[in-house]
Amino acid sequence: MILLNPGPVNVSPRVQKALLRGDLCHREKDFIELHNAIREKLTRAFGGTAYRPLVLTGSGTAVLEAAVASILPPQRKLLVVDNGVYGERIASIARAHRLPVTVLKGAWTRPPDPDRIRQILRRDRSVAAVAMVHHETTTGLINPVREVGALCRTHRKTYLVDAISGLGGEEIDLEREGIDLCVGTANKCIQGLPGVSFVLASKALLRRMAAFPPRGLYLHLPLYDRHASQGTVPFTPSVQICYALDEALAELLEEGVSARIVRYRRAADLLRRGFTALGLRMMLPEAWRSNTLTALHLPPRLSYTTLHDRIREKGFVIYAGQGALSRKIFRIANMGHLPIEAFEGCLRALDAVLPRADDRGFSKKRPASALSTFPKGGG
Ligand SMILES: *Cc1c(COP(=O)(O)O)cnc(C)c1O
Repeated sequence: MILLNPGPVNVSPRVQKALLRGDLCHREKDFIELHNAIREKLTRAFGGTAYRPLVLTGSGTAVLEAAVASILPPQRKLLVVDNGVYGERIASIARAHRLPVTVLKGAWTRPPDPDRIRQILRRDRSVAAVAMVHHETTTGLINPVREVGALCRTHRKTYLVDAISGLGGEEIDLEREGIDLCVGTANKCIQGLPGVSFVLASKALLRRMAAFPPRGLYLHLPLYDRHASQGTVPFTPSVQICYALDEALAELLEEGVSARIVRYRRAADLLRRGFTALGLRMMLPEAWRSNTLTALHLPPRLSYTTLHDRIREKGFVIYAGQGALSRKIFRIANMGHLPIEAFEGCLRALDAVLPRADDRGFSKKRPASALSTFPKGGG
């Protein structure tokens, strides 16, 4: 099955095979070496030496929750920039932990306005940290991480970025963007398996955080930092999923993060040319689109379920819209260990299952064979 959902993604045979490296006790030297190897590779791929990677067992949301629960000094507030399901999720986490939170809600189809963030930071001195999603997977929109980072610098706020679906797929330089705490996961553009996630935390923030009150036991980042310094982990990690992450990171470094980004961008370009040829309409203007996910309007009179099931019969898994968009859009991601032929195959499958131009009134422009420019074979 070719997975065109934004994680979990198809992984390489090499990553799959890593699961079979063998049984291992996490208190043995071998695990410490594995853990160190993963952390060292994360630093090389994303962080640089100003950051410490902390690996937790759990999906991306677990580590996002750890980040939100750990980031605030007592009595201070989190400003959440929310323009999608995942921005909303950050706010929900803060509320679940009874943390003071201000939410700057914006349209799902647009990046937030930095001026409005500036106004809040000027007005509300209780705000200690700002949180924003890097790649809003709801719509495939890239948020202005650098602009907001510059505001955080000017106003001396801690900056939390959910880059769960961005790391490995988009260019991002944590230090340059002024990020203090960046959340990532194994099973999206890093091409590992689901079950472990991580943060890259600036050393300066970790020093401050150590004095903040713990708001949970498992999800308190300073605990992981203390253990990592001593070469241990506090709880049983998902050992085999760590093997897979280690292998996926090795592959990422061999391919090169920049080369991976280019590969994804090319796949997205190919898909988008095909979508246009098929008469499909994209939700976002080009300037805001990520390299790895495209949100498309559902053609009239075609339900998502029907489209999903027909494409699935041909071996492709697509993804629904969320929330208010669930009846309006569908999403096609291009993350994971997939050759370009897989995306050509996806376009041919769409061509076969979408209603024809004239008889369903879905696109006047769509010719009988819209994909003549795409080669046969593969997929
Ligand atoms: C996928 C995703 C998450 C949640 O990750 P889970 O692994 O499903 O918990 C959070 N934020 C963003 C931006 C995502 O794309």
